[in-house]
Amino acid sequence: MTDVTHVKDTRGRRLRDLRISVTDRCNLRCNYCMPADVFGPDYPFLPRKEILDHEEIARIARVFASLGVTKLRLTGGEPLLRRDLDQLITMLRGIPGIEDIALTTNGLLLPAFARKLKDAGLDRVTVSLDSLDDAVFGRMNGKGVGTAPVLKGIDSAIQAGLTPLKLNMVVKRGENDTEIEAMARRWRGTGIIVRFIEFMDVGTKNGWRMDDVVPAREIVQRINARWPLESADPNYQGEVASRWRYKDGQGEIGVISSVTNTFCGDCTRARLSARGELYTCLFAAKGHDIKTPLRAGATDYELQTLVENVWKRRDDRYSEIRNESTVGLPKAEMSYLGG
Ligand code: SF4
Repeated sequence: MTDVTHVKDTRGRRLRDLRISVTDRCNLRCNYCMPADVFGPDYPFLPRKEILDHEEIARIARVFASLGVTKLRLTGGEPLLRRDLDQLITMLRGIPGIEDIALTTNGLLLPAFARKLKDAGLDRVTVSLDSLDDAVFGRMNGKGVGTAPVLKGIDSAIQAGLTPLKLNMVVKRGENDTEIEAMARRWRGTGIIVRFIEFMDVGTKNGWRMDDVVPAREIVQRINARWPLESADPNYQGEVASRWRYKDGQGEIGVISSVTNTFCGDCTRARLSARGELYTCLFAAKGHDIKTPLRAGATDYELQTLVENVWKRRDDRYSEIRNESTVGLPKAEMSYLGG
């Protein structure tokens, strides 16, 4: 499967990025993703036999690479909870055509694994940090965990060379919006890029309301008022975050505006759940089962045809059609899809 077929969907969007959820479990309970009152001790997480093993994930990733995917992102739940993740990364690193392997994490386990993951072939990490205030952060992550272990994780990732390092801050009005400027100040001039993310109606459990959304425009205006910003061109077509550079040369920030300034037109992202389903949108309710045909002995060509046909029929644009009536629609949980 060395020849690459660049497949496009019904809107001419290429398949370029594959986000791979390697587990649906997490060691935090962020209220915008995995509220603790829902994802409690009795929550029916995926049984082990339901989850793709490393060889299966690598085989599926190879199929996606043959259809034009060049960038892989490992997600969860919390991907660092997956045992022997370095071995999976080594397999993925060996796939022809894969140029970039990134990972999104809450950072708590980075001190233990950063070096090992880098040596295995991981390029860079994105760390979630929703506040610099221990009380606010502890409340938002649902476990009362302070910022210190995450900051330690960030340091270990930088020492290991997992850069450029990005930080994700989900901004919720009335919870952490007072900290936008503090977060910008803390990371200005460090080379670390903070991405401010509009609170999204992902899944069906996070109690999303439009009133809790701080529009990207307001976030940029508030930071610009303190440190003048200028808009910067995307690094590549389909980049999720819009870039804003500090005029004084102290780096840049990103804003992810799925609610108020949608970007579906350029969306080149597919998602593979830990259970082996292909999701064509973060807000989709259902995925397309790849694991069953794979375990039933399908050839690489048959798997490639399956994925190609799914993508060719893709017409997702949830963020463009979002309104009061869509918010309550069934959707897969973000912790299941990996964001
Ligand atoms: S809403 Fe769906 S189609 Fe639109 S950008 Fe997000 S994942 Fe892509």
